[in-house]
Amino acid sequence: MTRLDELRGSGKAKRHNARTIAALTGNPGCNRRAVLDAAGVDKLKLAETVGFPGSFGQSRFALSRGNAFEAMLKADDCALLRSVLDASADSPYQDLGADSDDTLGDRHARTAALLASASAALIDHPLLTLEVAGQTVYLEPDLVAYAHAGRLQVVEIKSFAIVDGQAESAKVSAAATQAALYVLALRELLARLGSDPRLVDHEVVLVCPENFAMRPVAVRLDVRKQLATLRRQLSRLASVGEIIDALPPSVTFDLARPAEELTVALGQITPRYAPECLSTCELSVFCRHEAAGTTGALGRPVREALGGIESVDEVLALATGAQAPTPDQEEAAAMLRAALRLRTEALSSGYADPLAPSPAPGAAP
Ligand code: SF4
Repeated sequence: MTRLDELRGSGKAKRHNARTIAALTGNPGCNRRAVLDAAGVDKLKLAETVGFPGSFGQSRFALSRGNAFEAMLKADDCALLRSVLDASADSPYQDLGADSDDTLGDRHARTAALLASASAALIDHPLLTLEVAGQTVYLEPDLVAYAHAGRLQVVEIKSFAIVDGQAESAKVSAAATQAALYVLALRELLARLGSDPRLVDHEVVLVCPENFAMRPVAVRLDVRKQLATLRRQLSRLASVGEIIDALPPSVTFDLARPAEELTVALGQITPRYAPECLSTCELSVFCRHEAAGTTGALGRPVREALGGIESVDEVLALATGAQAPTPDQEEAAAMLRAALRLRTEALSSGYADPLAPSPAPGAAP
């Protein structure tokens, strides 16, 4: 039994998928998440066991809207999808069948054979693989399309709307990271097949509903930045051994252990909480509670601007001069004193204090 198995305990290893791997890049500096993910710990159940469950994952409404949109695009041999991708109506289409009853390994082998023969222009339900922390993860892009001049292009179908040419940036960035993961997996597969990995385009196609109707629109995204981040994060996950070796031998995240023991075990690995964790990590409610009163809980820009000042109490003490700064804190302390002076001046000139608590209903003005 490896140390990773011991850390996970009796539970089955939680398998990664494109969504969970993409989420890793949301907080690359967090040792806690790196260890738990490398060990395949079920973070959702861990959060529930230690008393901090969160509502995590896609809503049922979003899931069914997404399925309906994808089914509409792929009906009649992808007729509608072909029109938004500018693919000709007679370009060969092959559905590798998500619902077929063969194993994941079989479907991956059929994907590889199809790519090697280059006999289909649109490949539906392909199955790719990627090594993540020593584990083979199966990834299923929505579609792989042969673009112009024989280059392969990943097509990602999402159900969030693009309204007047704009979409929610967090959703676009998550979709771009997910698509970058498929690009990485496709390039690795081509390399294994003896083909040139550069045939896989770094531009991916995002197909979303336009405005408030279900009419599709295709947007091209350059994912080179996401590819670099993913490569860095995946290699970090593979080298998580040093953090694990430094843990006391008694640390385990076996979900059969008492909640108090698991809470102590979590405290043995340094987190790096940021408000973005709330949408990317199952442990976010626990970590937010733990980070209360720290500058990190206020977000990365605050953490970076106040580097070396860990708590909000210390920030206030430095701003008012109640605490003398260390040499490392001089610059941040000067900025805090200036901010406090500006705030005091603004308030004395009659501006309402946006930070002041609102008066209780019915209280005298
Ligand atoms: S929620 Fe906690 S464990 Fe998850 S990424 Fe954030 S700090 Fe790390």
